[in-house]
Amino acid sequence: MSQPPIWRDTGHPARLEKILPQGEVECGLSPRRCRIAPGKTGFCGVRGNVGGRLVTFTYGKGVHLTGEVIETEAVYHYAPGARILSLGNIGCNLTCSYCQNWKTSQARQVDAADLHAFTPEQVVDRALAHGIPILSWTYNDPVVWHEFVLDAARLARQAGLLNLFKSAFYITPEAVEELLPVIDIFSISLKSIRPAYYRRLTGGTLEPVLEGIRQVQRAGHHLEISNLMLTDISDDADSARELTAWVLETVGPDVPLHFVRFHPEFRLTDTVRTPIDRLRRAREIALEMGMRYVYLGNVSDTDATSTWCRGCGALLVRRFGLTTRIEGLTVDGHCVRCGASPAIRLLGGTPAATSEPEFPAEQTLERQTYHWRGAIASLHVQVRNANPAPIRFYHRPLPARPEAGWRGLTLAAGESWRFTLSREGAEETGCEIGCPPGVDCRLHEVFDRAHFPTIPIQQAVAADDKTALPLFAGRHLSPERLARLRQEIERDEESP
Ligand code: SF4
Repeated sequence: MSQPPIWRDTGHPARLEKILPQGEVECGLSPRRCRIAPGKTGFCGVRGNVGGRLVTFTYGKGVHLTGEVIETEAVYHYAPGARILSLGNIGCNLTCSYCQNWKTSQARQVDAADLHAFTPEQVVDRALAHGIPILSWTYNDPVVWHEFVLDAARLARQAGLLNLFKSAFYITPEAVEELLPVIDIFSISLKSIRPAYYRRLTGGTLEPVLEGIRQVQRAGHHLEISNLMLTDISDDADSARELTAWVLETVGPDVPLHFVRFHPEFRLTDTVRTPIDRLRRAREIALEMGMRYVYLGNVSDTDATSTWCRGCGALLVRRFGLTTRIEGLTVDGHCVRCGASPAIRLLGGTPAATSEPEFPAEQTLERQTYHWRGAIASLHVQVRNANPAPIRFYHRPLPARPEAGWRGLTLAAGESWRFTLSREGAEETGCEIGCPPGVDCRLHEVFDRAHFPTIPIQQAVAADDKTALPLFAGRHLSPERLARLRQEIERDEESP
């Protein structure tokens, strides 16, 4: 019999528990409402029954805290360019065949080396120490980290921070009710509007996701919706039309809608990335149908990621990949040229500041360069300061220009930190790292956004421009199985 994973060594009392006869418990966190026998775990693998009580095994355990930007989470109308502290844990209550985060979302695949321990207080301290205003609950899926999210988010609120929840939102109404008082921004991935899609490809059901979106909308919280368009499965014009019609009718034309490019991943690898023209067509359809802010995701060099004024056509927010520049907004979020409001909330009424170039003593730095390639437009940089004192760590874009010089960040004594470094424009060819003595630095390629790469490039670089590392070693969907799935989804739609 295989041993339980090491991270299951400690449990923390779970919420939304229902005690049943014969020592069983029911979990009310997700619509599965798993009925769990003593000593067993629920479907997600991270909640279980210990001694007749429901526990969560991942309280205070997660992947490395990571400094990113809010656009990573498909949030374009709240504090553009704001820094976020991304927090992910492990496990998920869905099993999407194409999961872009399967290495952490599928509990059985998790490598204990990728896990770290922290308390709510430490999370908040780290955000404050790095001047980050927003915690982002993200990656695998924060639904299954409920108790830790609530405790840390509450503490963050008390410290003046905001909370963002990026999720597939397969969740019960009572769990949403618990989140609403502490979460400020919801970015929800609506995978399709077809029930058969959810049943065949995610292992879940559609209606709870729709109800969750309605609940957030009714509560008046900031909401953005994204849709990952799977090649040949959900990237057709009808899918875009049906999804847009629901969004328009349910949450209205001002909620930003993101059509996101897919890359082959997990079990769904025998295919190609979503063709750009299909993403563009989906966007045109949504705009024609009346949505006001429709964006493309995982596409860098396009006008379809920038925000344009609906009143006069002026460029309000320019985006290239994960790099954002506020160009045509007043401090209270109106168009500088015509005064129209694009429904963008700015943090504290001021655009994000750009850091000033610095000039380190270059001879003391160990230099390392990385050249952008294919779909890779950002890196996770993981650094650890083994020195007994704080130290400055540096990076700069390439080719080196005086107006875009070295940028530094301070690492506390003994601190381990991870952050995103993004390509800032088509002319930028790469980046350079300046690492002081006593600092260990690892680079991880980010293939598209919003996933947590687990393999540093010192160990492996993806051989082609199609999928991220690592590759799933288990069974993949064959072309025949994929074709059958497509037919099944279409046939189900036709049945009454
Ligand atoms: S969160 Fe996990 S244990 Fe709870 S109902 Fe969902 S899958 Fe089951």
